[in-house]
Amino acid sequence: MRSKIVAGNWKMNKNVTESKALAEELVSELSGVSLENTRVIVSPTFVNLTTVLAASEGSAVEVAAQNMHQEAKGAYTGEISASMLKSIGIKTVILGHSERREYFGEDEALLAKKVNAAMQTELEVIYCFGEVLEERKNNTHFDVVKAQISGALFHLNTAAWSNIILAYEPVWAIGTGETASADQAQEMHAFIRGLVADQYGAEVADNVSILYGGSCKPSNAEEIFSKPDVDGGLIGGASLVAADFAAVIKAI
Ligand code: PEP
Repeated sequence: MRSKIVAGNWKMNKNVTESKALAEELVSELSGVSLENTRVIVSPTFVNLTTVLAASEGSAVEVAAQNMHQEAKGAYTGEISASMLKSIGIKTVILGHSERREYFGEDEALLAKKVNAAMQTELEVIYCFGEVLEERKNNTHFDVVKAQISGALFHLNTAAWSNIILAYEPVWAIGTGETASADQAQEMHAFIRGLVADQYGAEVADNVSILYGGSCKPSNAEEIFSKPDVDGGLIGGASLVAADFAAVIKAI
């Protein structure tokens, strides 16, 4: 059975003191909450990973990185490898976020390499993708999403899919306050599950968690999460306030 997952992407927010406080508040908000088959993940910036790992130790809160480099090591000033993340206790990494694609030129060819590096290091990947507004208006959003998934993931073998989480994040809904409707999310998630089924079979498709991201918050989470192919969310803004993030988690 696939897991429900609520993951918070803290992006380039919170210094070390604030990160520790936010993690501690979240742990406290979730104490006594039954999280059956639901994983909770937070993603602080690189420099705060160790602090947040320590602050969440012994709780249900897992910690993921927001990015990594595709090479194992070498002369890549300023970069961080999969094995470095692994060595501090990180088990999951977000790859392909729309901000990485937009501001850092990441495309499927590069992301395929990053995914490979993560798989070789046995890191789980939350792979993000989604169309921009113009693509939705032109009705090319299904083609765009298909290319984003197939270009970075369809070279993987079946076994690797137990370490892949998909996150559909329509770019027009990220940080804009505008959310895809629950029906729009379900329509795309069902399409995505169908793509995985066509490529890898029904079992892989049934077992992969597909998260929705884009202005998901306490007021809309329950409706979006109620859809059968929506297995949780990747949450930006609302994950920066412990009570709001906890409310989103409880909505599942
Ligand atoms: C995100 O950046 O992954 C995201 C979903 O952001 P927000 O929730 O703020 O739209």
